[in-house]
Amino acid sequence: MSRADGQSGAICPVFSHPACFEHSAGSGHPEAPARLQAVKAAIIAAAPAAWHAAPVAPAAPILRVHPAEYLDSLEAFIRQGGGRLDADTGANARSWDAALGAVGAALAAVHSSLEGRPAFAAIRPPGHHALADRPMGFCLLGNIVIASREAQALGADRVLIVDWDVHHGNGTQALVESDPSIRFISMHQWPHWPFSGAANECGAGNVFNLPMRAGLAPQRYVEALWGSVMAATRDWRPDAILISAGFDSMQGDLLGGFTLEPEHYGVWIDRLRTEFPDAPLAALLEGGYVPSRVADGVLAVVRALAP
Ligand SMILES: [Zn+2]
Repeated sequence: MSRADGQSGAICPVFSHPACFEHSAGSGHPEAPARLQAVKAAIIAAAPAAWHAAPVAPAAPILRVHPAEYLDSLEAFIRQGGGRLDADTGANARSWDAALGAVGAALAAVHSSLEGRPAFAAIRPPGHHALADRPMGFCLLGNIVIASREAQALGADRVLIVDWDVHHGNGTQALVESDPSIRFISMHQWPHWPFSGAANECGAGNVFNLPMRAGLAPQRYVEALWGSVMAATRDWRPDAILISAGFDSMQGDLLGGFTLEPEHYGVWIDRLRTEFPDAPLAALLEGGYVPSRVADGVLAVVRALAP
């Protein structure tokens, strides 16, 4: 029986933080608390003991990725009540705690995976558009890069980041593109916001961009991403694998035109676990803007990540 067929009640540990539910990017914003509420309800219904509240992140892991001046100015802006950070990105008075809680949950998922238990971080705000010194695209901190640096600090020298969000992970790319110890694969809709992620953006040979048209049959996306995983690991074995799990690549999402269904995420997880049985594996929530669909996608992933 496949781990991804949804018949088993077993799921992996899921880490979150209460403040992640209180962050608001503004009234009517698609990156809304309802997304995470739907995810939590689905996890609790499947396996209540799997849901864990992580501690907020300490400063040190975040300072590996973001300069102190940026963190200080962002915290001060939020402590004064928040507001609009750019055309797409906003914060309220709870967003700093949410950002630190999101990183804390990401770190907890990494620690769990390195201890032999694959894990999922159910977090918001998302992270893969955040730059070193600037918020962008609903994102404040580079959660997946902070998590990757933590894995490296704990001995996983080579980290593979797989980003299946429908948008290019431009922030992740900017933060890792000069460092061949991390390889970054992003499959994303093209042309589409943020209009980066062309196939010829290769970084130091460690960036694998896979721009794809909207509206293709789902199997096209499944095999294309898997082809990039194989290409990125042909001569390079990852010591840990972290996934930027955006569910805006699902059929019917408000902000994307891909056609994936929950089972397809399970296929990728199954293949990664088969191909890299010794590599710790953790997934972090990125986008996905139809709450019930995000919940279904997360359920498929946490079932595929079950021990
Ligand atoms: Zn996205």
